[in-house]
Amino acid sequence: MSTVQASGVRWDLSPLFASPEAAEAAIEPSLERARAFEAAWRGRMAELTPAQLADALHELGEIDNELSRIASYTMLRKAVDVTSEQNRDLGAAVDAAIVQARNALRFFELEWLALDDERASQLIAAPEVAADRHYLTAQRRYRDHVLSEPEERALGERDPAAVSAWQTLYAQTTSTIEVPFDSGDGPQPHTIDRLLAYVHDSRRDVRLAALDTLYAALEAPAPVLAHCYDSLVADRLVSDRLRSYGDDPMLPTHLDNELDAPVVQAMLEQVEARYPLAQRWFRAKASMMGLDVLELADQYAPLGEARPVDYDEGRSLVDAAFAGFSPEVASIAEAFFTEQRVDAEPRAGKRGGAFCSPVAQDASPYVMLNYTDTMNDVLTIAHELGHGMHFQLAHAAQTPHSAHTGLALAEVPSTFAEFVAYDHLLANEEDRSTRQALTSERVEGAFATIFRQTVLARYEQGAYGLRAGSQALSVDRLSDIWIEQNLRYYGDSIHLSDGYRLGWSYIPHFISTRFYTYAYVFAKLVALALYARWRAQGEEFVAPYLKFMAAGGSGAPANLLAVLGIDLSGREIWDTAFDELERMIAAAESEA
Ligand SMILES: [Zn+2]
Repeated sequence: MSTVQASGVRWDLSPLFASPEAAEAAIEPSLERARAFEAAWRGRMAELTPAQLADALHELGEIDNELSRIASYTMLRKAVDVTSEQNRDLGAAVDAAIVQARNALRFFELEWLALDDERASQLIAAPEVAADRHYLTAQRRYRDHVLSEPEERALGERDPAAVSAWQTLYAQTTSTIEVPFDSGDGPQPHTIDRLLAYVHDSRRDVRLAALDTLYAALEAPAPVLAHCYDSLVADRLVSDRLRSYGDDPMLPTHLDNELDAPVVQAMLEQVEARYPLAQRWFRAKASMMGLDVLELADQYAPLGEARPVDYDEGRSLVDAAFAGFSPEVASIAEAFFTEQRVDAEPRAGKRGGAFCSPVAQDASPYVMLNYTDTMNDVLTIAHELGHGMHFQLAHAAQTPHSAHTGLALAEVPSTFAEFVAYDHLLANEEDRSTRQALTSERVEGAFATIFRQTVLARYEQGAYGLRAGSQALSVDRLSDIWIEQNLRYYGDSIHLSDGYRLGWSYIPHFISTRFYTYAYVFAKLVALALYARWRAQGEEFVAPYLKFMAAGGSGAPANLLAVLGIDLSGREIWDTAFDELERMIAAAESEA
């Protein structure tokens, strides 16, 4: 008999440390090493030879590996046993050590930033530091936007009142919203997240009532939520002015992502030009459901029902999918299972969701899942192993400083791996209802990333534009921008209720990090374009793709993707991505 819900599938962390005691004992020597680094290298940047800079970077990388290994080991232990006192104590000790180490090591980056351009370029060009060339260059990208030390300190000291206080007020306000809702078993208190989860419910009356209840609950706190956002946007605009970012509020985010503004703008315009693709699907979905027009609450209504897939079957489906792509990829994935670097069993005290931890550049990555026998869980295995193979290949080829990519590329290999698994699942699935669920969820998941996140980015642009023109961001003004951008997307293919005017108010990204979400649009479209290339080129695509993964974070996204023949400044990549999305939509329509 096969295993039920991945019972007994737990990871073995002993290759990282023999015990929590051993991990704790490793903290002090690493801190000692960080302090010794400071004593040896502080104040010397201006005179370093290339060979000395290489030595310093090497030592810094080793310290980083040691601390990452300790911190990751602790995080992994906590992830599967959140309540353990021993884990929490270890976590507190590690957190304190990381702060101390960061304080001891911070000088190095500051001195590197302070170096004049000519001297920095000479060092960057030296063959001794070739492996970290991008790391050294990329760190200096903020140089024109950093203020003097006393100015930075003054700005930093006011952050708790000017930034964190509004974020905390926002989080407290949204997290304490709790309203009674009856989903069929009598009225029970519901949070925002619990109400939102009903959009996947198969009962239409429950979906509609849940969203109406949510919007009604947002009416009273909306002015406070708008004011939190208004204050944060105003502060970010002041910061942009002081830091000479010019008048595009997206620039700091582009700099973080190492993407050029014209690339992002062209991408968003191409997405908007494809809004009719989504509208076509929503009209098709309405007729599948026997409705004239969808309500917003019907957007994610389930079509079909996927059959359960036990863990052994899920694992072998993913194995077979990867084997069809590349034997090397398949063997990297296989090692996660044979080396017990996967924890798949859901159990009490384990945190929810799934992730892949790189652990450290000189270690192997680990994957956490909560496998509950669903088709989606199978795709999650593929997704996390996609991260895992990216980490593994980059760890082997890059230094600790250059192994990991930024946000824009991080989700590319994981999304690509999901596509590989998805096509394999579909090609081998005979159950009609499962096929319908699989294809429609794929399409709607892609829409949620590509189209909806673009709507969010446009909404943010609108809000920053108003605020820069000295208009306070009131509930009405934010609601107007929100509806305007949503109408551009949905057109008349989905009916938006009056309550949806407050749809902006519970989205935490606007509050925590501006323009955070477009990186996910980018990653999804790039993965779609790569997938289309693989289907077109077959075998020929595989070696460059492995090279791309092994390159890790050793270049900016535009340079790393150039290895695959992709030109981010052209339109072809977006056209290819949308052709691929159309193929997915057609597959979903044909299953109706
Ligand atoms: Zn991911």
